[in-house]
Amino acid sequence: LGRRINAAVSDLTRSSNLDEKAFDAMVKEICNALVEADVNIKLVASLRTAIKRKVNFKELAPGVNKKRVIQKAVYDELVELVNPHDKAFTPKKGKPNVIMFVGLQGSGKTTSCTKLARWYQARGFKSCLVCADTFRAGAFDQLKQNATKAKIPYYGSLTQTDPVAVAREGVDKFKKERFEVIIVDTSGRHRQEADLFNEMVQIQEAVKPDDTIMVLDASIGQQAEAQSRAFKDSAGFGSIIITKTDGAAAGGGAISAVAATRTPIVFIGTGEHMLDLERFQPQAFISKLLGMGDMAGLVEHVQSLKLDQKDTMKHLAEGVFTVRDLRDQLSNIMKMGPLSKMAGMIPGLSNMMGGMDDEEGSLKLRRMIYICDSMTDKELDSDGKVFTDQPARMTRVAHGSGTSVREVEDLLTQHRMMAGMAKKMKGGMANMQKAQGVM
Ligand code: GDP
Ligand code: MG
Repeated sequence: LGRRINAAVSDLTRSSNLDEKAFDAMVKEICNALVEADVNIKLVASLRTAIKRKVNFKELAPGVNKKRVIQKAVYDELVELVNPHDKAFTPKKGKPNVIMFVGLQGSGKTTSCTKLARWYQARGFKSCLVCADTFRAGAFDQLKQNATKAKIPYYGSLTQTDPVAVAREGVDKFKKERFEVIIVDTSGRHRQEADLFNEMVQIQEAVKPDDTIMVLDASIGQQAEAQSRAFKDSAGFGSIIITKTDGAAAGGGAISAVAATRTPIVFIGTGEHMLDLERFQPQAFISKLLGMGDMAGLVEHVQSLKLDQKDTMKHLAEGVFTVRDLRDQLSNIMKMGPLSKMAGMIPGLSNMMGGMDDEEGSLKLRRMIYICDSMTDKELDSDGKVFTDQPARMTRVAHGSGTSVREVEDLLTQHRMMAGMAKKMKGGMANMQKAQGVM
């Protein structure tokens, strides 16, 4: 999708006389690409109107970068669509917070339950799980296994067939034991929808959840709207988790679900592992959908780690990215872990480290840092061109760091790519940071 949108935009900007007709064609092309990415058709239509209203070509000053204006309009509109207007529920310490999961079978409820319980556990909440899926044989076993691995207390029954009773028993028990985050997993079987919704409502009445979370598979596509609406109208929910965002699906369906139910996405699932849960970031999600790389996600993550990032942030906002910035990022990545995940957030780095396990990956990163550390300050603070101008410098750095010229070249290639990205993102980055109240 990103490639198609970029192609549409650059086709247009390459033609020297950019008239209204060409502009219309480009907006149409982008909209087609969005529909293909499973964004709801009606939504795309309103998006189209909004972009046309926002970007008035006749009024654009001649010097203005039209490509950026269009890109930004598309980006802003999409971010606005998924931006939560209602604040999502967040648990409070020192009291029981009951969270119930709903969603179709296979959407990723049981997996996400454990991820979320672990997430809150890691943030100091006393967390536990209740299995109210008495429908599927093996459901309790699956939750038990997940919970045991994550060292999270759980409750369920192999003999009790009434999900409402199990839910009530589990929640009561954990409330007495002063648990703070009590997550209730439910069944979501396909058979007879009315039954399913009835069951959800009964469980809700029994455990009185502080929040109900609907779990949606990112690959749901155009059905997302109908499905989320059906749940919203019967059981109701206050938050959404989108799972399997690591898959091939563009995730456009997620946008439709939010727009249809006006409900915030709170987390996204990014893999099968327990740690593969991330807070939903509208900017990052849309950047990814539009193929801009997850720079916003990287920025956010780095900020949340309180690493020393001042210079890099400032540089990025200015569209600059020095070799030293790369070095700082590499050493931060080493601190952050899990490595494979972090590398995935830096465009291009995941390709380079493809197929390596975390140990090989860290070795590679360490060697890259050695290379940087063998450079002079002037080289580090440069845009890297000094090396292409004077290749002898590469040899010197390779010797100094105990690596090969080839590795130095690879590092500089990586840097060039990221610098190019920083330059392209200049306007976007500054806006994102403004939006997030940074700097
Ligand atoms: P449930 O029926 O709604 O409880 O769904 P499960 O939690 O059992 O998940 C169904 C399948 O999806 C399992 O194989 C999970 O490992 C997988 N799954 C869940 N979340 C994710 C995710 O974020 N990424 C990937 N790749 N797989 C996921
Ligand atoms: Mg399940």
